Amino acid sequence: MHAIEPIYQPMLLAGTPADADRVIEVRNPFSGALVGSVPQAEKRQIRAAFAAAARFRPKLSRRERSDILLGTARAIASNQDRLARLITAETGLCLKDSLHETRRACDVWSFAAHALIQNDGEIYPGDIGGNPHARRIFSMRTPLAGVIAAITPFNHPLNLVSHKLAPAIATNNRVVLKPSEQTPLTALALGRILREQGLPDGMLSIVTGTPHDLGDCVFTDEDAELVTFTGSVRVGHQIAERAGYRRLVLELGGNDPFIVLADADVDRAAQLAVQGAVRHSGQRCTAVKRALVVEELADRFAERALHHMQQLSTGDPSDPSVDLGTVISEDAAQLIARRVDGAVAAGARLLLGGEPRGAFCPPTLLDHVPPACELVAEETFGPVLPIIRCNNDIEEIVMTANATRFGLSAAICSNRLDHVTRLIEGLAVGSVNVWEVPGYRTELTPFGGIKQSGLGHKEGIVEAMRSFTQVKTYSLPWP
Ligand code: NAD
Repeated sequence: MHAIEPIYQPMLLAGTPADADRVIEVRNPFSGALVGSVPQAEKRQIRAAFAAAARFRPKLSRRERSDILLGTARAIASNQDRLARLITAETGLCLKDSLHETRRACDVWSFAAHALIQNDGEIYPGDIGGNPHARRIFSMRTPLAGVIAAITPFNHPLNLVSHKLAPAIATNNRVVLKPSEQTPLTALALGRILREQGLPDGMLSIVTGTPHDLGDCVFTDEDAELVTFTGSVRVGHQIAERAGYRRLVLELGGNDPFIVLADADVDRAAQLAVQGAVRHSGQRCTAVKRALVVEELADRFAERALHHMQQLSTGDPSDPSVDLGTVISEDAAQLIARRVDGAVAAGARLLLGGEPRGAFCPPTLLDHVPPACELVAEETFGPVLPIIRCNNDIEEIVMTANATRFGLSAAICSNRLDHVTRLIEGLAVGSVNVWEVPGYRTELTPFGGIKQSGLGHKEGIVEAMRSFTQVKTYSLPWP
């Protein structure tokens, strides 16, 4: 095993390293070894971070911001191995997944640099309507007057933090970020890279702590104008109830269907479904959480999915040849196992799986899963592929796909354009991918769910930059 020396990382309060009386330990989910520790912030430190951000007025030109963003992309690329090993140590994700995450993060930072050089204003004529004036009206986008409060989950500790910070910096905003207490070390490593790239201290604080100790202070601070949260539906709803009069961007959980229609190439579909369910230990908001397969293909689909799942190599996540690491904790693995048992008790057939070992949850395949059981009615965050058999009826498939409170993404395997278009229209989700996993996206394009999977603006660099700015108009007397 590739051991990492335990490290203590201070928080960054307005760019300055800061400690606290207590620390939080981060342990490797695979080995249980201490990866490092971070301060347990006190509420007064959170207040101080927001106050310092509110006092600071960023004045970076587009050129200066672009240099910081591109420099960060380059620094992530040149530290790729070190960062990926840190992600693997904190999360238990296999090194292949962590390296993939570093490549995605490079895209985020470089795409933000490119997006900020685009014109973001519009021009309207004034000599129109019932009250024509010989004037012209211009719109421009300005940074928020207040501070952005950003809260991120454990499952993409580099990429999702990047999706908050890069668009915020690109738009000259100030951010107080609270990463997950389960994976704070990667966020702090990114914070240090940003300082090295010359990010002004007042633009970023990274505070660490458990929700139990911090309560609501990160999203109710008087200087927090916008709260951008990525995480579970449960916590997203708590924030929505308590955040008060401020803008909210909530990117929440998913329960994505992977739909296989009668004309599909079964082996190609099964391979994609396994990839979508198992990569990143199944801990993606857009992982395949349910395969809806028409009855006539289901036997063969199950057989091919079993074949592809059996090819996966498991073991020490830091071994570069391993395909599947652990989930985030032993508790998470136990929850998945209980839901699998519940599905079997309700009539599902277990084709592959077994007892978890610590935080390792074996790749799991079930067929004949009843749609109402908890395994598929809730978001099950692990390497599990449950097959729900469906009649060959598009309306019925749409109803089954939509019969959850989630609405993030979906995937379709079919070449029948008439069926595909009916599904795209009928599925109550934010994105649909045909012949791809539900999670396919670029870091630039709009991304986000509907129903309980998300509220407010979408993410993706372009949309996030819009959500982090306000539109100001001005009119001039020269038409
Ligand atoms: P989580 O909701 O438990 O935690 C997310 C963050 O919120 C963490 O920083 C945590 O410390 C903080 N938090 C927890 N309870 C809080 C509270 N009461 N008040 C304030 N903050 C609190 O989520 P998680 O387990 O870290 O991440 C997994 C979840 O995130 C899954 O549901 C997944 O689908 C979702 N997710 C969504 C997207 C998306 O873009 N839609 C992307 C990745 C993950």
